[in-house]
Amino acid sequence: SDSLSGEVKPRILLMGLRRSGKSSIQKVVFHKMSPNETLFLESTNKICREDVSSSSFVSFQIWDFPGQIDFFDPSFDYEMIFRGTGALIFVIDSQDDYVEALSRLHLTVTRAYKVNPDISFEVFIHKVDGLSDDHKIEKQRDIHKRANDDLADAGLEKIHLSFYLTSIYDHSIFEAFSKVVQKLIPQLPTLENLLNIFISNSGIEKAFLFDVVSKIYIATDSSPVDMQTYELCCDMIDVVIDISCIYGEAGLPYDKESMAIIHLNNTTVMYLKEVTKFLAMVCFLRKESFERKGLIDYNFHCFKRAIQEVFDVRLKVQQNRKLLSQR
Ligand code: GDP
Repeated sequence: SDSLSGEVKPRILLMGLRRSGKSSIQKVVFHKMSPNETLFLESTNKICREDVSSSSFVSFQIWDFPGQIDFFDPSFDYEMIFRGTGALIFVIDSQDDYVEALSRLHLTVTRAYKVNPDISFEVFIHKVDGLSDDHKIEKQRDIHKRANDDLADAGLEKIHLSFYLTSIYDHSIFEAFSKVVQKLIPQLPTLENLLNIFISNSGIEKAFLFDVVSKIYIATDSSPVDMQTYELCCDMIDVVIDISCIYGEAGLPYDKESMAIIHLNNTTVMYLKEVTKFLAMVCFLRKESFERKGLIDYNFHCFKRAIQEVFDVRLKVQQNRKLLSQR
């Protein structure tokens, strides 16, 4: 599981105007801060706030706008950073006037695209908790249109932007992050396939692969995801980590032995097990199916081995590429 570290991690840049909500997103998603506590976050004046997230599957960095980043400042090597970036998330405060944000978005995207056309550009229309459903759709349509018009005017309609409505007060921010991260995992089809095989052989209804620290799901089987199921998974991870922080023995709250079973009051069982240092599987199954726990555990063991191989192969490919490029 150590192979899931270093350069294999998807790298994400979080950008946007000051006060758009970047630090809050980081704290809520990666540091378990409760949304209300973000009201008291202090503003910083740093250009970038590095967060290596060593305990997470994802690594990312925050950049503030405006003012601080001068693309013409030779001492600031934005090119190098864009080159190593998988996804650029641009946060727009939907409760504020967004003219300035849109022009910054345009500038950033066009710069970044020139350096690295493979970056995925993700726009979070953020703080939508205060808006009615109609209002949300209206905002999204407007921002979508203006941003794409700006690109078309510059002859850059080939740049693709994806849009998400997000808030730290519900699960939308985790869901959006999950989608962003999933795009950066080249092994995603393989992971989905493995999950499909695992669930059909084990009588399981739904299985997710979660980054435990961030509660981002990096893959699931191909049956549709409903929000309630996803929220239950997040709650289960919280419960497991909290209990193990409080009652566990000294050391990490999440390790090779981690597993949990929750019987819901209907006929469903939730089952969580460690897959790698960063990842856990959470599955949903009927009580009857859980009676064959031996079979499930055996299949899980095979699944886990397969996952480790998938990531090991990728690491080796990357290392070989690196060696070749150094020649
Ligand atoms: P940054 O400068 O981009 O890092 O912005 P901050 O994270 O400091 O956030 C600025 C303010 O926005 C804080 O008072 C947060 O509590 C608030 N905020 C962040 N996310 C949300 C959200 O989803 N909804 C609402 N209503 N407020 C938010």
